[in-house]
Amino acid sequence: MSFRASILTLYPEMFPGPLGVSLAGRALERGDVALETVQIRDFGVGRHRMVDDTPSGGGAGMVMRADVLAAAIDHAAPAGDTRPRLLMSPRGRPLDQRRVRELAVGEGAVIVCGRFEGVDERVIAGRGLEEVSIGDYILSGGEIAALVLLDAVVRLLPGVMGNALSGEAESFEAGLLEHPHYTRPAEWEGQTIPAVLTSGDHGAVERWRRAEAERITAARRPDLLKR
Ligand code: SAH
Repeated sequence: MSFRASILTLYPEMFPGPLGVSLAGRALERGDVALETVQIRDFGVGRHRMVDDTPSGGGAGMVMRADVLAAAIDHAAPAGDTRPRLLMSPRGRPLDQRRVRELAVGEGAVIVCGRFEGVDERVIAGRGLEEVSIGDYILSGGEIAALVLLDAVVRLLPGVMGNALSGEAESFEAGLLEHPHYTRPAEWEGQTIPAVLTSGDHGAVERWRRAEAERITAARRPDLLKR
């Protein structure tokens, strides 16, 4: 069973983009992941294939039309398609590793990439779109946000990461930021590696890593400890 993502965008040439290389690129080649893009403009209105219009009530910018987006969504996800429908949006629930994990065990996702000022509010309820944000800043479009989400999901799919264990200790997986890493050389610019890491005492290494993870989380992200 592969993970199938349908991406609705005005810029399909942005995909697979960075997902075409390295781990994700190989998953695409193997067919463990399928990325399909849908050009929203193909569902535009009139001879000029209009996809946006001026905001009701006035003001700057343009708004993506509900009817055009709905037609594109209905094409990408006909009745019976149970994949979650996501709208990349700065108003959405901030993406976290828990949601990434949920998506990775599912069959895929339909992902709408906004442009301009955003999308007509009516299509969000009308097509049951779940708004997802990748952080408290404004991008020029949803495409890069979709790439971020897909990168996080794809690396969790079975067989994608070379060493399955290396995913488990990662930042956020245990509600903590990760401990520091070291590798050879033993001394670099006068800095050495903490002795416990080269002691061969696996229990002591585990205790040190846990303590460091807690110390760093308390210093940088006390909000994570409270959760
Ligand atoms: N006027 C909107 C911003 C529109 S940015 C506002 O103030 O909220 C244009 C598009 O980029 C959005 O529709 C969304 O799809 C995408 N986008 C921008 N910032 C994003 C973020 N932080 N997370 C996810 N998508 C984002």
